[in-house]
Amino acid sequence: MMRILIKNGRVIDPANGIDGILDIYIENETIEEVGSNLDYSGADIEQIDASGKIVAPGLVDMHCHLREPGQEYKEDIETGTQSAAMGGFTSVACMPNTDPVVDNITVVEYIKSKAASSACVNVFPIGAITKGLKGEELAEIGKLKFAGVVGISDDGRPVRSPVLMRNALEYAKTFDTPVISHCEVAELAEGSMNEGYVSTLLGLKGISRAAEEIMVARDIILAKYTGASLHIAHVSTKGSVELIRQAKKEGVNVTCETCPHYFSLTENAVMGYNTNAKMNPPLRTEADVEAIIEGLSDDTIDAIATDHAPHHEDEKNCEFDRALNGIVGFETALSLGIEYLVKTKKLTIERLINKMSYAPARILGINKGTLSEGKNADIVIIDENKQRIIDKNSFYSKSKNTPYHGYKLSGTVEYTIVGGKFAVREGILI
Ligand SMILES: [Zn+2]
Ligand SMILES: [Zn+2]
Repeated sequence: MMRILIKNGRVIDPANGIDGILDIYIENETIEEVGSNLDYSGADIEQIDASGKIVAPGLVDMHCHLREPGQEYKEDIETGTQSAAMGGFTSVACMPNTDPVVDNITVVEYIKSKAASSACVNVFPIGAITKGLKGEELAEIGKLKFAGVVGISDDGRPVRSPVLMRNALEYAKTFDTPVISHCEVAELAEGSMNEGYVSTLLGLKGISRAAEEIMVARDIILAKYTGASLHIAHVSTKGSVELIRQAKKEGVNVTCETCPHYFSLTENAVMGYNTNAKMNPPLRTEADVEAIIEGLSDDTIDAIATDHAPHHEDEKNCEFDRALNGIVGFETALSLGIEYLVKTKKLTIERLINKMSYAPARILGINKGTLSEGKNADIVIIDENKQRIIDKNSFYSKSKNTPYHGYKLSGTVEYTIVGGKFAVREGILI
């Protein structure tokens, strides 16, 4: 029997409104008791002194790319989940733009079985909205849901046809699963960075905010019309935040996420043709960053996801136009939240943890993100004030595409416990 007693940590459990110095006792895979001065004895109990540290639900990333099957040279389920565990995540939901695409049961089963044999955190696959992500014909949404997907998305591409999107929302409602929308009007998004001063300066073709906002507006209208759950991925503009804020006021069933790069970087990061600052949607301006932070602060933005997007060096070490979009995110997300939201007093640590654990779990309908007694012991222990210098060469991800190399950030992950087992102990991957 595995028994762990975590003593004297600041236990933050947003789902239960808990924030206090408490102990947690774990037996096998289950949280048995949360309370003050717990007294369990026995030579077989592993005791962790969490004084001065934060003990929180294991983080839940509702949007990442693990690249398996098909692009294992960038990442695979084993390395991706190791990277996630080092970042404090105990559950990750992976997008279906693999090769083959997750548009049928066989691929869902493949991911689940690979996860069972090689993942060190829980893996929840997301299924495709359309077959092959081609935007022509709906995937078998009901079958995917029964096979275990936690949402559907054509992430990486927009669903161009409003008819297909409407049908997807209606099916998804029947099967009680969220539709996760990558909002982009493709015809307006042919550039390689935000459209504005910097794109002009660099002579790069820009992508306007309208490319994102038109689709956010369309999908909100369709969600309102169908009553289905719509989740908007990677919100990056002030206008999108305003549209979602208004929709929520009207009672539309819409939620959304942003990513750490949209509250910590602007388009200026592209200067010098830095391909590690190339993403989709692109990094925006200071006014957008402020609006994203405002949206997080007033809960217009429900969740923070990484959009962990590993790419090989050759796919980034090339002309800006040709470089692939995205950055790795697991091993920097929590620290970026602490540095740019908590230290700046925009969010309390309790609210940051909520947006990185319980809130995304609730959106996906998964039984995660809390420290309730009787739940699986998925726990992260964080040293909020310990600083570190980000070194991409120390990442557990196979890929190193980060714009944060050399940044000094606060917040380290000391322990990651997944179902009562150590994935990270004293900062070291097990
Ligand atoms: Zn996307
Ligand atoms: Zn993505």
